[in-house]
Amino acid sequence: MATNEYEGVLKKIEELTTNAGQIQDEVLGEILSRNAGTEYLRGFLHGQTEKQLFKKNVPIVTYEDLKPYIDRIANGETSDILLAEPITAFFLSSGTSGGQPKMTPVTAQVTKNCELFRRLYESPVIKHFGDINQAGKRMELMFARPEIETPSGLKAASVSTSIYNESNFRTILPKLYTSPIETIFCPDPNQGLYCQLLFGLIQRDEVVTVGSLFASTVLRGVKFLENHWQELCYDIKTGRLSDWITDLGCRNAASLVMKPNPEQADLIENICNCKSWEGIIRKLWPKARYIGCVCTGVMRQYTAELEFYCRGLPLVSAFYACSEAICGINLEPLCKPCDVSYTFLPNMAYFEFIPVENEHDESIEMKRNDEDTELVDLVNVKAGQCYELVVTTCAGLYRYKVGDVLMVSGFYNNAPQFQFVERKNVILSVDQEKTSETDLSKAVTEAKALLDPLGFILTEYTSYVDTSSAPGHYVLFWEIKGKEGKHCKELDPKIMVECCSKMEELLHYTYKIYRKRNIIAAVEIRVVKQGSFEALMDYYVSKGTSLSQYKKPSCIKSEEALKILDSRVIGKYFSPKLPL
Ligand code: AMP
Repeated sequence: MATNEYEGVLKKIEELTTNAGQIQDEVLGEILSRNAGTEYLRGFLHGQTEKQLFKKNVPIVTYEDLKPYIDRIANGETSDILLAEPITAFFLSSGTSGGQPKMTPVTAQVTKNCELFRRLYESPVIKHFGDINQAGKRMELMFARPEIETPSGLKAASVSTSIYNESNFRTILPKLYTSPIETIFCPDPNQGLYCQLLFGLIQRDEVVTVGSLFASTVLRGVKFLENHWQELCYDIKTGRLSDWITDLGCRNAASLVMKPNPEQADLIENICNCKSWEGIIRKLWPKARYIGCVCTGVMRQYTAELEFYCRGLPLVSAFYACSEAICGINLEPLCKPCDVSYTFLPNMAYFEFIPVENEHDESIEMKRNDEDTELVDLVNVKAGQCYELVVTTCAGLYRYKVGDVLMVSGFYNNAPQFQFVERKNVILSVDQEKTSETDLSKAVTEAKALLDPLGFILTEYTSYVDTSSAPGHYVLFWEIKGKEGKHCKELDPKIMVECCSKMEELLHYTYKIYRKRNIIAAVEIRVVKQGSFEALMDYYVSKGTSLSQYKKPSCIKSEEALKILDSRVIGKYFSPKLPL
C-alpha cells in the first residue's frame, strides 16, 4: 500500500467508526432488500424488509438450523433458497458440526469485503511500524489445507487456503513474502515448514516481519527450528536441499534460489548454537519490526513463550474475524496481547449482541433464554458488559450465533471495541480446532465402554489442554472403579491405550486433520486414584463454591486444581497411532 493509500484507509476507518449506527442500518437494509424474497427469509418476513419485523420474526440460529439449506445448495439446488447473490464457493470453518466442518457461503461481495478488510487492518500497523511492504519481506508461515468439492461442484476451503489461491495473492507473494507458493501448498506440512524456514533464513536480511495467522503456528515454527537448525545450516552452507524433502514443488522452488552460502550458514549457526534461545527471533531476523499473529482468545496460552523467543519485539494481533463474518481490527498494534481490543467495522456485517453474565470463575454462562432477550445493536452495547456475538451477513447468515463471547472495553468514535473473552461451549483447543463438551463426552462415552466387559467403570472424568511441550495435546483425567472388589491396579495398560485411540477416532474432523499433521500430539489419559475428584470438589468448595451447586468443571483451567489431580495420577497412557 502506498503512503497516500494507507492514509486514505485511515480516513475511511474514521468515517466508518464515526457513522457506525447509520452504516449498520444501511447494511441491514441492503441485506434485507436483496434477500427478503429467499425461501428462508420469506418464511419469517413475508417479503417485508423493515428492521423491526426482522428483529421480531427472524429467529436467532446456530449452524445446525441453517445446515439443511447449506446442504441443499452444496448438493446442487440454487443458492437463492438462502441468499440472492450467487454462491461462488464455501469457507470451511475450524468449528465442526456433527463431525463435519461447517461451510459458509462465499459470494463476490464476500471476496470484496475480504480485500477491503486486509487494507483496513493493515493501515494501523503501517502507521505504527512504517510501510513494511516497501521496506522488505514478510517471513510468514502459511499452510494451505485440503479443499473439498461439493456434489454441486462448488469448492470448499478454509479462509486462509482461499486467500492463498487468489491470483492477487500469488502475484504479490514473491515480492512481499519469503515463502514460495509451492511450500504453502506442500501436502506434507513438515516439509512445507522446513522449506519456509529455510527460505526465511536465506532471505533473513530482507525480513521485516515474522508471523503466521495464529501464535501457535509461530511457536511451532520456533520449536521446529530448535530441532532442525543444524540441518538447515548445512543446507544453506552447501546450497543443497535435504534429501527428505521429496516434494517436487518445494525442490523446484529451492533449486531456483539456493546456492552455497557458508558465511550466512556460519552466522546462523553461531546464533542458534547458544545456550539460551531467548530473543532468537530477533537475532535471526534482526530487521524484523514485529511478530504478526493472533495472540488473543485461545492463543493467549502461547504468548508468554513467544515473548521469550522474541524478547521485546511487539506481538501484533491485527484483526478479529471468522469464516462467517469479518468483525474488527486492532487500532493499537503496540498494545500487549492481554489488553488487545478489536474495533468493530460496521460495514462488514450487521452485528447484534446477546448479553451474558460472568457467573463463576471457570466459565461464562448465559443467564437468559434467547427468545426472551432483546438483542442489543452494535452502537448500544455497554462498556464492561459481556456479549455473545450474533451476525447477519450478505452471504446468507441471518441472526447467526458465532459462538464467541466478547467484552466491551470502550469505544472508538461511535464503534465499540471488544476484548475476546472465550469461545462458548468450547472446552479444549490446542490450535484452531474447537472441541465442545458434547464432542468430548461422545468420545469418552464410547471409549469407556471398552472398560465395562473387563469389570471396570469410569466414575468421573475431566480434561485439560497440556501445552507444556510442543505440540500441545488433550489430557483426560479418569477415575476408574473396579467392580466386585477389583482394583484399578489390575487394569490392563493395553486397554487404556485402546481407550485413548478410540477417543481420538471419535473426535471431530478438524481435530483429526490437525493430529495427522502433528499440530496436536496424542491424547493422554491420566488415571487418578480413588477419591481424587472428591479432593477436587473440596478444593472448589474451599474457594467459595456452594457445595449444593458444585459442578465439576469439564475442563480444568486453574493451576491449583490441576496440581490436585496431577498429584494423584497412578498411570499415564497415550494413543499410539494416528486416528483414521
Ligand atoms: P474460523 O471460523 O475457523 O476462521 O475460526 C474463527 C474463530 O477463531 C472465531 O470465531 C474465534 O473464536 C477465533 N478467532 C478469530 N480471530 C480471533 C482473535 N483475533 N482473537 C481470538 N479469537 C479469534
